[in-house]
Amino acid sequence: ALLNLTADKVSYQPTDKSTILAGRRAHFGGNLSLTYSDPVMLVRGWKHHLFDEWGRPYLDAYNNVPHVGHAHPRIQAVAADQLRRMNSNTRYLHPAQTSFADKVLSKMPDHLEVCFFVNSGTEANELALRLARAHTGAKGMVTPDHGYHGNTTGVIDVSAYKFNANGGVGPSDWVELVEVADDYRGSYRRDDPNRAQKFADLVDPAIERLQASGHGLAGFIAETFPSVGGQIIPPKGYLPAVYDKIRAAGGICIADEVQTGLGRLGEYYFGFEHQGASPDIVVLGKPIGNGHPLGVLVTTRAIAESFAQGPEFFSTFGGSTLSCRVGTEVLKIVEDEGLQENARLRGTDLITGLKDLKTRHSAIGDVRGMGLFLGVELINADGTEATDICAYVKNRMRDHRILIGSEGPKDNILKIRPPLTIDAEGVAMIIESLDHILTELD
Ligand code: PMP
Repeated sequence: ALLNLTADKVSYQPTDKSTILAGRRAHFGGNLSLTYSDPVMLVRGWKHHLFDEWGRPYLDAYNNVPHVGHAHPRIQAVAADQLRRMNSNTRYLHPAQTSFADKVLSKMPDHLEVCFFVNSGTEANELALRLARAHTGAKGMVTPDHGYHGNTTGVIDVSAYKFNANGGVGPSDWVELVEVADDYRGSYRRDDPNRAQKFADLVDPAIERLQASGHGLAGFIAETFPSVGGQIIPPKGYLPAVYDKIRAAGGICIADEVQTGLGRLGEYYFGFEHQGASPDIVVLGKPIGNGHPLGVLVTTRAIAESFAQGPEFFSTFGGSTLSCRVGTEVLKIVEDEGLQENARLRGTDLITGLKDLKTRHSAIGDVRGMGLFLGVELINADGTEATDICAYVKNRMRDHRILIGSEGPKDNILKIRPPLTIDAEGVAMIIESLDHILTELD
């Protein structure tokens, strides 16, 4: 099949690179191409492969959206079928929506019974904040200081993170930031057996401050594994301990699973399962639509009914028939093709290979993650964050036809996040190329 996928040759118009960059940055902030010294345009995809405008293949080890791979024939089929039948269903109920809700809820703990459909992870997080506030009548939110929940004003307020072009927004005085539970660089390290509880205890003064301020406590919002903040896996037990404190103070616990949900973690379908935590609201995005605009919020009946007193919640495109059909198919394909298990197996191979590289290359400070949610922290000789080395490695990986990203406050953590279809050959390519490039640096 790959042979048929050679991209059409497109005529290349030589253009001043700075003009392209300025334009693309304005329209496509966060585009990986911009982090390269020489941008790459990708025009086709197949499974975990991408092809540039010259038909050259790249391994996609960065795109955290298409769990089931690019251009999956079953996604193409349901999308085409739905477009033939009905495109918009803003005002009426459609079986695509009810089937999708049933499928999503089948993956959730029993107490989560209601789905809201929107167009993105950002919107779903915005809605989560409003529901928490409507339900509690309070405004204050507690959130880890390395969070990322999207790009609109409401969520930037609780993201407080440099990757947002935030225009001066946030954090407001009703947002309390607490130190993220990073046991590699944070206040409590991996050799401390009580670090989960110690990180969780940082929430106590934050709750007290909100209660004293008059804003009150609406809840706690966090990615179950902070991603943009540095691919951080909190020590087991951290979230349940925080959730207990938040609930005891009357707040709602929101789990952002936009990056971590739907099998990427291999051993766990969701990050909250790894933590043994029971959220009141779960937010899904990115892979749920495999590239189609779709965000989902799942919550309890009681919280959902907080909106029943006022105007109806309405989103014109949220839960479009097209997105719902695609979303249902994504969840089925992950099951039918054993992609969660593939994430576990390939993730284990990757972690083993990366840990082996760490023993041989001093530029690797930490290898962390699970399944296909992986981070490689690059450091300088003095142990400080190696932003420049990271930028260099990303560019050189591209020369090896592998696309990877980077994250973290100092942008020094390589982020390996391929579609869940990646195979043993792809894993070997990543390890061998990284080995080669780090050897150049030694
Ligand atoms: N939450 C998390 C954890 C994310 O990483 C992102 C996007 N990177 C979002 C929410 C926002 O999703 P979207 O960009 O689809 O609105």
